[in-house]
Amino acid sequence: MLVNAHTHLEQSWLAPYRPAVTGVTFSQWITQTLDTAKRAVGDQRETAIRAGIEAGIATLLTTETTSVGDISSTGYSVEPLLESGLGGIIWFEMIATTPEKGEAKFARARALVERWRPHERNGLRIGLSLHAPYSLLPDYWRRGLDYARTEALPLCIHAAESAEEYEWFMHGTGPISERRRRDAVDFPSPRVSPIQYLEDTGALALRPLLIHTVQVDDADIRRIADSGSPVVHCPRSNLRLRCGRMPLEKFIAAGVPVYMGTDSLGSSPSLDVRDEVESAVALHWGRVAPETIADLAHKPLP
Ligand SMILES: [Zn+2]
Repeated sequence: MLVNAHTHLEQSWLAPYRPAVTGVTFSQWITQTLDTAKRAVGDQRETAIRAGIEAGIATLLTTETTSVGDISSTGYSVEPLLESGLGGIIWFEMIATTPEKGEAKFARARALVERWRPHERNGLRIGLSLHAPYSLLPDYWRRGLDYARTEALPLCIHAAESAEEYEWFMHGTGPISERRRRDAVDFPSPRVSPIQYLEDTGALALRPLLIHTVQVDDADIRRIADSGSPVVHCPRSNLRLRCGRMPLEKFIAAGVPVYMGTDSLGSSPSLDVRDEVESAVALHWGRVAPETIADLAHKPLP
């Protein structure tokens, strides 16, 4: 069993726009990589997305991956994944930084869950992703959590990924705050760490699969451990988006279940989770035994 716990197959088409190994900041990735790619592909986007999904699944199958954690906004990856025989979880994503988007994104995520949940098979399940605590307005954050709780849906959240996210949460400054001002959105900084925000809002109690968890201190790791939430380590994406090093040795010492994920081809050079393991072995050399890291890619998803 080989498990790639974090992908966005629908972003495979971004591969030609992926930042170099020298990296870009997270906000540069949004404004340069994503926006440039969208302009370049124009009205061929759906075709590009669907072709990227097919190619991505073919890669997963040829790399002996048996289970995948995929995040989807469009729902396009569901049928190909159900046909592929791969197990795992597809989380439908909510992301909304303005009130205008909130209602539509929530409705779409719910519609996708309701449409596809009755078709779960081959060990492939349906879940909900609240993209990140800074990218979903508090009202929709709360409603998303309520929905996941009521429906007992597997939950997934990107959390504590970039220094920019941490800066906005703790101090209300930096690129996220500038964007809020530009969009005239009223979403004040919670003035706590991203992980504490997850705890304070009841998200951690739902034991979400937490993606990245790079920007964490010892208290945050304790919060995650106490909640029983698992995390996913994506070191190659963290490198290209200049997010830093996840303190893997501390998560393991705290007893947190850790998975390995490649992230999408928009920020990672391959969907082969064995490449991710190799990078992690190099990154944590002297801190975590290579055998321990290799084992992380062989656990069934929660
Ligand atoms: Zn991701």
